[in-house]
Amino acid sequence: MSKRVAIVGGGASGLLCSIECAKGSCKVDVFEQNDKCAKKILVSGNGRCNITNKNLTTHDFFGENPHFVKDAIEGFGYKEFTNFASSFGLILNTLDDGRAYPLSNESKSVASLLTTYATNLGVKIHTNTKIKDIKALLKNYDAVIVATGSNAAEHLGGCEDGYEFAKEFGHKIVQTYPSLVQLHLTSTIAHKMSGVKTLGEVTLLVNNKKDITICGDILFTNYGVSGFAILDISQRASKALLEFAKVDISINLLPSYNAQKLSTHIVNLSKSLPDLSVIEILIGLIPLKIAQAIIQTLEISQITKIDTKLSKRVANQILNWRFEVSNTHGFRHAEVSGGGVDTSEIDPKTFQSLKQKNLYFCGEVLDIVGKRGGYNFAFAWASGYLCAKDITKLSSSKIS
Ligand SMILES: Cc1cc2nc3c(=O)[nH]c(=O)nc-3n(C[C@H](O)[C@H](O)[C@H](O)COP(=O)(O)OP(=O)(O)OC[C@H]3O[C@@H](n4cnc5c(N)ncnc54)[C@H](O)[C@@H]3O)c2cc1C
Repeated sequence: MSKRVAIVGGGASGLLCSIECAKGSCKVDVFEQNDKCAKKILVSGNGRCNITNKNLTTHDFFGENPHFVKDAIEGFGYKEFTNFASSFGLILNTLDDGRAYPLSNESKSVASLLTTYATNLGVKIHTNTKIKDIKALLKNYDAVIVATGSNAAEHLGGCEDGYEFAKEFGHKIVQTYPSLVQLHLTSTIAHKMSGVKTLGEVTLLVNNKKDITICGDILFTNYGVSGFAILDISQRASKALLEFAKVDISINLLPSYNAQKLSTHIVNLSKSLPDLSVIEILIGLIPLKIAQAIIQTLEISQITKIDTKLSKRVANQILNWRFEVSNTHGFRHAEVSGGGVDTSEIDPKTFQSLKQKNLYFCGEVLDIVGKRGGYNFAFAWASGYLCAKDITKLSSSKIS
């Protein structure tokens, strides 16, 4: 008798788990509340799907117990996922920095190939089917996998259901917070730079102490800041806000300069071209909207001529512009959520609940969140795989 397996959620972890369970001769039903599976895969990586990363370490993941991921990423890491993907024709392109994408460069090929492969292996996918009664499911199946994802991006299926299911069995939930998310700034001057994208260095300050510095794109918006550098600091910023810390960012718009070099450049230019106003000097270095905002912040006029004292103030503003962070842009806009089902109550080798036999949790519903760079999918694949490995192992021992 083949084992009957119910998977709640047809996203990354649920689909991979369904495939591995079907390969292990289980009869698998996937229940997906959306009209189609894998909506987050479809939008991921700006439509390209940063599917995994060649360099997976426990340091790339956060949670109350980040070492929880060790067995998963060692058991089903980059190499194993690459082989798995190529077994159904999905070939990866891995960049020098370790980030991997489908060779097609299209996330829809990932969603489509995974779903087709699962279906061809006999997995029954029930779309438009929202599971409400997890206990009833457990009565009717030999194993139930909660692969419901997190509460990030509700328009793509993000919801609290997985946490509620876990609570029914006495699991603790680590408070969730948005991650890989844009930040709101209190300064109205920042909002005036809306639409400007620049390359710079962002330092996160928690309670006035330097936390991390990231170099990358910074995009000013009408609520605050976005861009890769901001997403990369957002997990720590969001966690700090959750803990009621004072959170600021300091932006360095010209990281290749130091204060001395920049103020000397400005003052020398002003001496050699005395007709140039401060704004004219600044737009040779930074975007116009940012230059105008700097002038407003320093409370000087656009036509002011620069002397040594002013050149130092201007340089300091460009290299160390501090903004208070008031909030994140929220779960709806977050790529992922931190927090979730407490991993101390889950077996890290099997992902089975330590509170309820035959109940498994995989993917983002757990209190594990990865860095940007394919780490969140990497954990979804690996955790889905380990659930299936345990279920199919039990299944074959039951048959024999
Ligand atoms: C815009 C965006 C871009 C991203 N880009 C990347 C990227 O490039 N690389 C990366 O590594 N990660 C990326 N991520 C994160 C990644 O998508 C998730 O970490 C990953 O999908 C988590 O997989 P999962 O299986 O745990 O959950 P999901 O993929 O979210 O799947 C969970 C599924 O469960 C369904 N569900 C929930 N509750 C129920 C219920 N009661 N009944 C039935 N179905 C239910 C949901 O509808 C959903 O389809 C991105 C996320 C977003 C939002």
